[in-house]
Amino acid sequence: MKAVIFGAPGAGKGTYASRLQSRLNVDVIAMGDIFREMLKEDSELGRKVKSYVEKGMLVPDYIVNEVLKQRIAKVPPSKGFILDGYPRTVEQADTLDSITGIDVVILLMVPDWIIIERLSSRRICRNCGTVYNIRFLKPRVEDVCDKCGGELYQRSDDTPEVIKNRLQVYEAQTQPILQKFREKNIPFVVAVCDKLEMPPENVVEQIVRDLERLKLA
Ligand SMILES: [Zn+2]
Repeated sequence: MKAVIFGAPGAGKGTYASRLQSRLNVDVIAMGDIFREMLKEDSELGRKVKSYVEKGMLVPDYIVNEVLKQRIAKVPPSKGFILDGYPRTVEQADTLDSITGIDVVILLMVPDWIIIERLSSRRICRNCGTVYNIRFLKPRVEDVCDKCGGELYQRSDDTPEVIKNRLQVYEAQTQPILQKFREKNIPFVVAVCDKLEMPPENVVEQIVRDLERLKLA
């Protein structure tokens, strides 16, 4: 299965992707994580990425695309993948199409009020970027990352007004990309999470059932 996952910031995309990873035995290709890793390693591509990030500039598409191409090539043929954080533009959607075919789009639908409620309780690891939630996804030790022992912090822009604005920007950017996939007749699996306390397992099972129906799981 070659899937792309979409969900608004705060929809829990990372959480669902990593649960689907173990449930379906697929790779998760999270562009954000890949770049974080690259900043630490001393490779030619890594140094290029670093030079942009250090200047506070966006990493140009030709580098992002190259990184993606290299990562997709590493996926074992027996395994599929879930792509997270790409494509972010219509141009990237076209590039993806030229790199590899996509079997399914997984779309998370979460109402704004739930995202706002969740984000205000979100904590992030300063070191590895793992996301926690002090209500639903607590670390074992308060304010300490389970994975690397790093310090957890709250983003200063996790306020309702800023979040609402971010959601609007996301919608405007994402709709044309989704439209591209629809035009190519790629099936959508839509997972709806409309309750604040909905366990992630329920959402994951919804997705798996639909993937099975499409013979992708
Ligand atoms: Zn960490």
